[in-house]
Amino acid sequence: MALPNFAYFRGEIVPYSEAKVGVLTHALNYGTGAFAGLRGYWNPDDEQLYMFRPHDHFRRLLNSAKILCMEFEHTPESLTEITKALLRKEAYREDVYIRPLVYKADEMIGVKLHDLIDEISIAAMPFGLYVAKDTNAHVTISSWRRIDDNVIPARGKITGAYANSALIKTDAVRAGFDEALVLTQEGHISEGSAMNLFMVRDGKLITPPLTENVLEGITRRSVLEIAARELDIIVEERLIDRTEVYLCEELFFTGTAAQITAITMVDHRPVGSGVMGPVTTRLRELFNDVVRGKMPTYRDWIMPVYEK
Ligand code: PMP
Repeated sequence: MALPNFAYFRGEIVPYSEAKVGVLTHALNYGTGAFAGLRGYWNPDDEQLYMFRPHDHFRRLLNSAKILCMEFEHTPESLTEITKALLRKEAYREDVYIRPLVYKADEMIGVKLHDLIDEISIAAMPFGLYVAKDTNAHVTISSWRRIDDNVIPARGKITGAYANSALIKTDAVRAGFDEALVLTQEGHISEGSAMNLFMVRDGKLITPPLTENVLEGITRRSVLEIAARELDIIVEERLIDRTEVYLCEELFFTGTAAQITAITMVDHRPVGSGVMGPVTTRLRELFNDVVRGKMPTYRDWIMPVYEK
């Protein structure tokens, strides 16, 4: 993966090689950070780079920061402006991934959240597909369980919580799968290692509620809204049982990195007919048009980086 040329670090945009922290940094040792992940989509016809829902991403980041007792002067708007300046400096003319991070920056020993220095960094780099088989992923049900709101809150995108995601992902990939679905402590489906899950069953589009230890996904929210407005389908947020994913017609992940990834096999059982279904196909087309600025109704979800 190509590294960025610049980063926002300690209040200014610096060469990426200067954006470094020491090995004793609190967040590196104790997982006391939180991050965001946004995409910027290049539209060659408009000669424009569009950030997708930056205010929503930064609002969620500041919420995660609040859970970790961090205090920032920043607002979603100010962080969006910094990101815009960084992207302009990089002068990207391709799809990018943007990684803001808030972290406890002290270099000291002691597990806690209070009375520590809070820092923020942002970096962005060219980025393509996250799940290589995005039209035909084969997933398993992980033997790991999803972290619970009373253990490490999944609605905060907390760095330490991603040890859970990494265990889920690595075991799935080493067993020959592309990804995994993970169950809550109660045994309901929550999400993937770093993506939310949707199922089409009996013609309805269904996703677990936000109280099922899932990240409050911005792609999830966008897909719920696009489906309700553009598709003739009933949309439901309800619990999903493990065996329902064996019996449903369609299954797909949503996420900034994963975008809309079709799942066509679960534990060696074909999903529906075993190929990407019509609802997933249509939502992928619509989503691609929305994020690249081709659907005027959703123009307020995207923000141009370059001045015209
Ligand atoms: N769940 C988890 C655990 C994630 O890390 C992500 C990626 N941010 C998602 C879901 C999808 O969220 P979003 O659509 O906001 O990227």
